This record gives sequence, structure tokens and C-alpha cells, in this order.
Amino acid sequence: MSDLEPSEIEPSELEPSAGLSAAAATFSAYAPAPESRSIVSIRDRYGLWIDGESTDAEGGATFASIEPATGDVIARIADASAADVDRAVLAARTAYETTWRDLSPSARGRHLFRIARLIQERAREFAVLESIDGGKPIRESRDVDVPLAAAHFFHHAGWADKLDWAFGGGESPRPLGVAAQIIPWNFPLLMASWKIAPALACGNTVVLKPAETTSLTALLLTEILTEADLPPGVVNIVTGGAATGAALATHRGVDKVAFTGSTEVGRTIRRATAMTGARLTLELGGKSAHVVFDDAPIDQAVEGVVRGIWFNQGHVCCAGSRLLLQESIAEEFLEKLRRRMELLRVGDPLDNNTDIGAVNSEEQLARIRELCAVGVAEGAELVQSGCELPDRGWFFPPSLFTGVDTSSRIAVEEIFGPVLVSMTFRTPEEAIAKANATPYGLAAGVWTANGARILWMAQRLRAGVVWANTYNQFDPTSPFGGMRESGFGREGGRHGLEAYLQFGPPRGGPPRGGPVPGGPLPGSGDRRALR
Ligand code: NAD
Repeated sequence: MSDLEPSEIEPSELEPSAGLSAAAATFSAYAPAPESRSIVSIRDRYGLWIDGESTDAEGGATFASIEPATGDVIARIADASAADVDRAVLAARTAYETTWRDLSPSARGRHLFRIARLIQERAREFAVLESIDGGKPIRESRDVDVPLAAAHFFHHAGWADKLDWAFGGGESPRPLGVAAQIIPWNFPLLMASWKIAPALACGNTVVLKPAETTSLTALLLTEILTEADLPPGVVNIVTGGAATGAALATHRGVDKVAFTGSTEVGRTIRRATAMTGARLTLELGGKSAHVVFDDAPIDQAVEGVVRGIWFNQGHVCCAGSRLLLQESIAEEFLEKLRRRMELLRVGDPLDNNTDIGAVNSEEQLARIRELCAVGVAEGAELVQSGCELPDRGWFFPPSLFTGVDTSSRIAVEEIFGPVLVSMTFRTPEEAIAKANATPYGLAAGVWTANGARILWMAQRLRAGVVWANTYNQFDPTSPFGGMRESGFGREGGRHGLEAYLQFGPPRGGPPRGGPVPGGPLPGSGDRRALR
């Protein structure tokens, strides 16, 4: 047990893994390969994007956007008030009623195809900006975030004129109206694309609020929207913090609220929208189990676990943050994992060699440190990579807890950082019991050579997504979303469209959504009807 209060513990005081640092030091002696910043031009000030124009916030209010790898202020960004949110919602409503709703589906699709192609054309610029603004390694921005963002627009462009076919058998599905969309900071451009593309494909207009620490790629996207000739007001972007988000989520002029973020804020939004009639989808936090059986290909499983927790600094809602190892292989597996962890390179997000970049904000770094200190105080053993951390900016080494009690805070709470907690199990039944011992239900992973066991596990794991012998695979054709405290609703695939459409004969008054004929789609995640 530590005598120190959790907040007093610095990561350097926590034990590095013994005996591995020499190998790591040799390995990490490599030539830096930084990506040039010259492709992006970051302006000093950014406005809101309302009705196709950049505009100041009421009273000229701004907030600072900080580069996580340096701690430097890189821009000042307009801080939208409730009155600014009003303007944006009005612009979205006007665009909905005067242009977008009645545009032919194939014309809507053409706009989306253009946006997708333009993202591809400016992919390097988006990737560099995303890494500067959010701290994620350039390899991930370049190879995951930006290509997937373009893929989401391509995918939904294809759906725009096929909605009758997809939901055939009755009246044509209709858009809902104005969608309020609020996103977090871990995949800024990708989350914006997950939200905007399906909404537009279905004929809705949008007011999007990016997270306050990562507004820049959403604002760069506005250049592409203009180039793609998107009519003014179809997409509006209001930047700001919690107050801006609250003003948008509770605005009486929106027909749909789509929120991705923490469970705590999701709860507040659910309460606030309970009586408004606006449709709601919530994509919230997670504490996903990554289960490895003794017949799994161990080296592949180690790589899967590395990808599951240390991708994007562990700032991943579906991160495989709880490792469950079958007891007979635990020792061998943990030894291999510790060695692999030691080889991860932490540092400059723009360096092509970097595996783990900067933690997104000082506040998030403090939370990760605090929860690690709690874990040590609770009696778990912490092993951290002995890697050298940059002397400025916000960094945290890849970390692994062993000897973790299933009811301890680090086993239950989302750390949202590069910290893995590991536990063991003996039988498949025990694996299920431990995997499901969480209020969340976003994702899970299973490693085994036994196909029947994969199906047995998948039927019992209480999670929206179950990956088998892989982890963190994302595809716009595949619905993604959670259950229980990880939220409800799906994004991606045909199921994701359902959240932006209403069905059945039109009723009087403004569109407010309605039930899908015949109930929820199989696997749509709308489990309220199944309870
Ligand atoms: P957060 O809930 O603090 O913030 C998310 C967004 O909500 C931000 O834009 C923020 O400004 C806004 N916001 C804050 N308070 C608000 C309020 N009262 N009303 C309306 N909006 C408000 O979450 P975060 O720290 O930005 O993101 C991390 C969380 O997001 C983690 O819990 C993670 O698991 C979750 N997440 C979930 C998914 C998913 O698909 N399930 C994806 C990414 C992230």
C-alpha cells in the first residue's frame, strides 16, 4: 500500500518493469522520422460555421486550443453561446425546409461522394492537423482516422438513393429534420463523419459540436463542404464546451440528438431530452473485456491485446482495457506482453515511428495518473514501460496492472488511457461472469482456436460488438454501438440509418420520428423493446 495520496503520485515514482529496459533502450535508438507540419496552415482564430459562413460567437467569446504534445496554444476558437446555438439551429431548420429535405436522394448522394473524394484528396493535411490538435500518432491519423472518415462518406453516399429499398414494404422512410450532434475528442474527424454522413444521406440537416480540445479538423472539413457545393445551413458547426453542448442537446428546435461521449454526460442528456420528443442515440463509455483462452495463438493474441489497449493512447471507447487470461497461460502471456509493451515508442505524435502519442489534455492526464495511483493503493501490481517520456507536453507510459481484484476501481472504471488491467479465469463460465461484471456493454474480444467456443462466448457476452481473434476493427458497413451504460442506438451500416429516419404515414406537426414498423431491426441495439 502506498502512503501517498493518489494525486501525489507521479508516474516516474511507479515501478518500471525490471530487466527489460536495456533491450528497449537499444530498440528505441532510432532516427526520428517526423512528418512535416508545412502542409497545414493553422489560423490564429477560428469562427463558428453557420449557414455556410464563418462567424464570430456572440460578444466575440473565444477559448484556447492547445497542442497536447507541447502544451502550446495553437489557436483561439469561437465559444458559442446559447444565442449562437439558436442561430445555427435556425440555419439548419431553414436549409432542411428549403433545400435538403426535398433534394432528390441521388443528388444528396452526389454531395456525399464529393465530400468523400475531397477528404481523400486532402488526406495528408487532415492527418497532420489531427495529430497536432489531438496528440495521436501520425500513423494512426493517416492510416485509420482519415481513411475511415472518407469511407463513411462513401458508404453513406451509396445509401442515399437506396433507402426505400433498405426499409421497403411500406411508406418511404422520411428524414427527421434537424440533428444535434455532439462528439468527443478521441477521433475528432472520424466521429464527425460517423455523425454527419448518415444524417445527410437520410435527408436531415445538422448542427455539430466538436469537443473543445479538438475542433480543428471539423473546422477544416467546412472548406470541403463548401468545395462540395453543400447548400448553406445543411451542416453547421458550433464550437465550445459543456455549456454549448447543453444548449444544443436541449434545444427545442432539434428533432434528433446524437451524442458520443461519457456515460455521465449521456445520462444528463437523456434526462434533459426525456420530454422534448427529440429522438436520441447515445454512444458512451466502456470497460471492454479481452478474453484469451489457452488454445489461442499466443503471439497473435499478444498483438491483438496491444492493439486493443495501446492504440490511440487507450483513448478508445471500446478499448480492450480488461484483459482476462486463462490461468494456465497467464504467466507466459504476461511475460510476452511486458516485453512487447517495452518496445512501444512513446513520443512526438508527428514522428512516423511513434506508437503512442500525447494524452489529449492535461485534465485527462491527471485522471489517468489518479486512477493508476488508486490501483497501486488498492494493492494491484503496476508495471510500466521504462521508455523515456518527452520533457514537455502530456505523456503517459504504456502501463499494465496485474493481481487486480474484480471489484477494484481500476477494474470497474473507465481509465481512458494507455492502462491495461489483467485478471485470470479458469473456465469459460468464469470468463463470462468476469467479463460481464461491468455496468458497461460496448465491446469484447475473444481469442481461441475453437470456433464453437467463439459462438458460445458471443452469445453470452453482454456487449454491442464482439471481435473474435482480432480487435478494434472498424468498418462503415458494420453497425457499432453499445448496451447498458454504454448507450443505445447503432452507427454504421443499415442499422445506423434507422436512427435518422422516421417511418409510417406522416402525421401533423413538425417531424419528430416514430416507431419502425414491426419493431426494432434485429441486432439494432434498440433493446428497450426486448426487455
Ligand atoms: P464528455 O462526455 O466529457 O464530452 C463529450 C462531448 O460532450 C464534448 O463535446 C463535450 O463538450 C460535450 N459535453 C460536455 N458536457 C455536456 C453537457 N452537459 N451537455 C451536452 N454536451 C456536453 O466525454 P469526453 O471526455 O469528450 O470523451 C470521452 C468519453 O467518450 C469516454 O467515456 C469514451 O468512452 C466516450 N466515447 C464513446 C464512443 C462510442 O462510440 N461509444 C466513442 C468515443 C468516445
